[in-house]
Order: sequence, then structure tokens, then C-alpha cells
Amino acid sequence: MKTILVTGGAGFIGSHLCEALLKQGHYVICLDNFFTGRKENIKHLMDFDNFELIRHDIIDPIKLEVDEIYNLACPASPVHYQYNPIKTIKTSILGTMNMLGLAKRVKAKILQASTSEVYGDPLVHPQPESYRGNVNPIGPRACYDEGKRAAETLCFDYHRQHKVDIRVVRIFNTYGPNMQINDGRVVSNFIVQALKNEDITVYGDGKQTRSFCYVSDLVRGMIDFMNQEQHPGPINLGNDGEFTILELAEKVIQLTHSKSKITFKPLPEDDPLQRKPDLSLARKLINYEPKIKLEEGLIKTIEYFKKRLYA
Ligand code: NAD
Ligand code: UDP
Repeated sequence: MKTILVTGGAGFIGSHLCEALLKQGHYVICLDNFFTGRKENIKHLMDFDNFELIRHDIIDPIKLEVDEIYNLACPASPVHYQYNPIKTIKTSILGTMNMLGLAKRVKAKILQASTSEVYGDPLVHPQPESYRGNVNPIGPRACYDEGKRAAETLCFDYHRQHKVDIRVVRIFNTYGPNMQINDGRVVSNFIVQALKNEDITVYGDGKQTRSFCYVSDLVRGMIDFMNQEQHPGPINLGNDGEFTILELAEKVIQLTHSKSKITFKPLPEDDPLQRKPDLSLARKLINYEPKIKLEEGLIKTIEYFKKRLYA
């Protein structure tokens, strides 16, 4: 049994990760400042003797005895990370530095939750880990994109300079239960709008693409990657099915039997036109294969939001 710290553990992905690690029998410390996380996401974990919750902001240092750290703390939805952009970049830089410092002190392994946003609006498709990206360093998404890029730099510098045992995972669009109703990302927005029979807000012409990964596939990949000893990363994790945003809107309307109509809104600045992970490295290193197809994952997520809205 290992003692594992999950920062951002009360958030969407973090709550699923805490649950999976607890079920493997580990002692899990969930740390969160509750900016976008919710107690409800982890309420069912409070009954486990091997679960502990700490309210803390990773911008401030903390001393803990742990064997592994999964550093997920950071708002992930454009709406939330642009709400206080200076805080967002501080979380990625100062926060990751604090977690790397902790890993160094207690000789813990650390996995950094990076993002496909490090590729920006990509000029190479699909995106392999070797692609260095096309990021606007001064645009509204930069607090997140550049913060995460700097966090990767810090991981590799701590690795080279202090021999910290790092794992860097570039996560592509992930969805599922425990997303917030007002999360602002496309899957939760469309499902909530469809369930309420409100207009579905497609930004731009809806021809931009994304690849959507169901959360259980991602969490399995993260744990498997943490447990392998061959490669520090970066490694892409996600699902390589690719859909236009318009296709997603139509699928959600169909699966919810909604009366919603699609309405078009302006495309946000620097919104990437296409995104799809090259998963070759993940397949080779950890036999990674996303199992949940978009329709199946959407049905599970729709059930969750129905309960949240109407139970
Ligand atoms: P989320 O917003 O649901 O979770 C983030 C969690 O971190 C929240 O519980 C929030 O309260 C907490 N947090 C934020 N700032 C903090 C701070 N300074 N100190 C302590 N806690 C803090 O988002 P998510 O989708 O679960 O994303 C988790 C991680 O995965 C993030 O690092 C995100 O960048 C990364 N990621 C997610 C996706 C995705 O599609 N979901 C894609 C790429 C990368
Ligand atoms: N999007 C949309 N309507 C919404 C929310 C998002 O059309 O209500 C679009 C957004 O412009 C982007 C895509 O869906 O092209 C994915 O957006 P999201 O915020 O989920 O993630 P990211 O842009 O970070 O991949």
C-alpha cells in the first residue's frame, strides 16, 4: 500500500482518480482548494478509512510524507481558467514547483497533468508528443497553455537537476460524471442545454474538431503510466476518435431526445481548429487502448446530469 497525494482531487478527473486508487488499496490524500472542485464529488469516498481530505492551495508549500503525487490541481475549463488568469498561471508554475519540491524532499514519484493545449492551435495532425506546438503566448488562453508548458519545463528540470522521478501526461479532452453543471466545457454545456430543451450553443461554424475521452479510460492510462518505469513522458492520453463540434451537438440532441435547436455563437479567440492525439507511444508503452466509444460515454454522462438536474 502506497500513500498517494492527489492534488485537485475534488475536481472532475481527480475524484475518479482518488476512487480508483482507493479501490486498489492505497492510502489516498486528496488536496483541493475547492475553486472548481466540489465536496459532493468525493462525499462517497469519506467512508474509506484510507482516505483523507486536505483543504489547501498548492500555490503555498506543504509538507507531507507521501510515496507518489498526482498533480492535477488547476482549473481546466476555459471559462474558469480565464476568470483569474494570474491565479491560473501561478497554480501551474508556483504550484507545480511546490509539488516538485515536495517530491524531491520525500523522494516521491510525481505525475504532472499536462494538456493537449501545449500544442495550441496545431499545425500537425494528429499531434505526436514530438510536435512542439503553435501557442499564442499573449492570448486569453495563454495563462493555461503557457502555464502548463512551463510546468512541463519545471518537471524536466527537476528530473535532470535533482533526479526527481517524473511522469508527464498530456491529457486530451476528457468528459464524464462529476463535471460541474456550469463547467463551461462543451460536453457538459451541450448535455445540460439539451436536457433543459434550451438552445445548444455551437461556437463558430462547429466544424472545429475534438477527440473526446471517457474519464475511466483516462484514469486507467494515468495509473498505468505512473506505474511503468521506462519513460518519464510526455505521453498523450485520450481517445483518438475525432468529431466536429456540430456532430457532437447532433449526437447529444439525439441521445437526450431533446427539443433543443442549435444556435451559433462567435468562436472564442485562439480556439484550436482541430485536435486529435497520436496515441502510438501510449499504445507501445502501456498497451493503452480507450474502450468507451463516444455514444456509450455520452449516455453515462447524460444519466449523471439527469440526476444532478432533476433528482
Ligand atoms: P477541474 O476543474 O474539475 O479540477 C481541477 C481541481 O483542481 C478542482 O477540484 C479545483 O478546485 C482544484 N484546484 C484548482 N486550483 C487549485 C490550487 N491552486 N490549489 C489546489 N487545488 C486547486 O478540472 P479537471 O477536468 O478535473 O482537470 C484536472 C487536471 O487535468 C487539470 O490539471 C487540467 O489541466 C488537466 N486536464 C484536463 C483535461 C480535461 O479534458 N478534463 C484536459 C487536459 C488537461
Ligand atoms: N464549444 C462550443 N460550445 C460550448 C462550449 C464549447 O461550441 O458551449 C466549443 C469550443 O469553442 C471548442 C470546443 O467546443 O471549439 C471544445 O471546447 P472546450 O471548452 O470543451 O475545450 P477546449 O477548447 O479546451 O478543447
